[in-house]
Amino acid sequence: MIIYLNGEFVPKEEAKVSVFDHGLLYGDGVFEGIRAYDGRVFRLEEHIDRLYDSAKTLDIQVPLTKEEFAEAILETLRKNNLRDAYIRPVVTRGVGDLGLDPRKCGTPTVFIVATEWGAMYGDLYEKGLTAITVSVRRNPAEAMPPNVKSLNYLNNILAKIEANYKGGDEAIFFDTRGNVAEGSGDNIFVIKNGAIITPYTLNNLRGITRHVVLEVAASLGVQVNEQNLGYFDLYSADEVFVTGTAAEVAPITKIDGRIIGNGQPGPITRQLMAGFTTVTRKEGTP
Ligand code: PLP
Repeated sequence: MIIYLNGEFVPKEEAKVSVFDHGLLYGDGVFEGIRAYDGRVFRLEEHIDRLYDSAKTLDIQVPLTKEEFAEAILETLRKNNLRDAYIRPVVTRGVGDLGLDPRKCGTPTVFIVATEWGAMYGDLYEKGLTAITVSVRRNPAEAMPPNVKSLNYLNNILAKIEANYKGGDEAIFFDTRGNVAEGSGDNIFVIKNGAIITPYTLNNLRGITRHVVLEVAASLGVQVNEQNLGYFDLYSADEVFVTGTAAEVAPITKIDGRIIGNGQPGPITRQLMAGFTTVTRKEGTP
């Protein structure tokens, strides 16, 4: 496996960062998760824009232009001969000392890992996932905007741990005001009476898969409403699904023991899954 690290391509064994890197010491950094389908990188520009927006919010200056970053991602894929892959670019504050002041750090550390990837949830795309609403809250926008895809994923990890203990395939987060936010690593949608409802993107990550699914929904003529959702909306939904680069479009058929709809992935979810697959196989940066 070949890793991009600070302008060089090195074997995995040589891809090492300092213990004084503030990404490690303080979670001071940002990342992305990107898919390649059949040798083409899906929505590369959108992911790079989000990476740079996350970095900008944290006042980290990415030491590459967006074009250079895109080329580094594509070259990492080529060097690893990957066609269906998951790509993880990371930018940290860089190496400093034990003080957290960002001014102590030099140039940001940049690395890109790419690995072979298939369908994350296997047969659950047919059966549906079991989800658990968790007690841990999504960090509120006024504390740390969930739109920053930062290296601080601890509340997502706590959510995942809680779902694991309670037998769920995925966690559903609420925000501190009691509104549904998202899954631990994906955005959430419910379908009621033929219309899609999804939370605003203030209390969740502005997902790129979410965006693609909204485009697919528009092309199918399915109505979409962005509004706050609560427990009632989840439990009484006709269909529920989550979206993410890794998860793609994944149906949820049980939440906290309640069967959603008839317990099978619903017809609109299936249409959106098929539509999403079509888009991912059609588009992409070679
Ligand atoms: N929400 C969280 C917390 C995530 O980590 C992700 C994954 O990136 C998503 C949502 C879905 O975003 P995207 O579709 O851009 O992968």
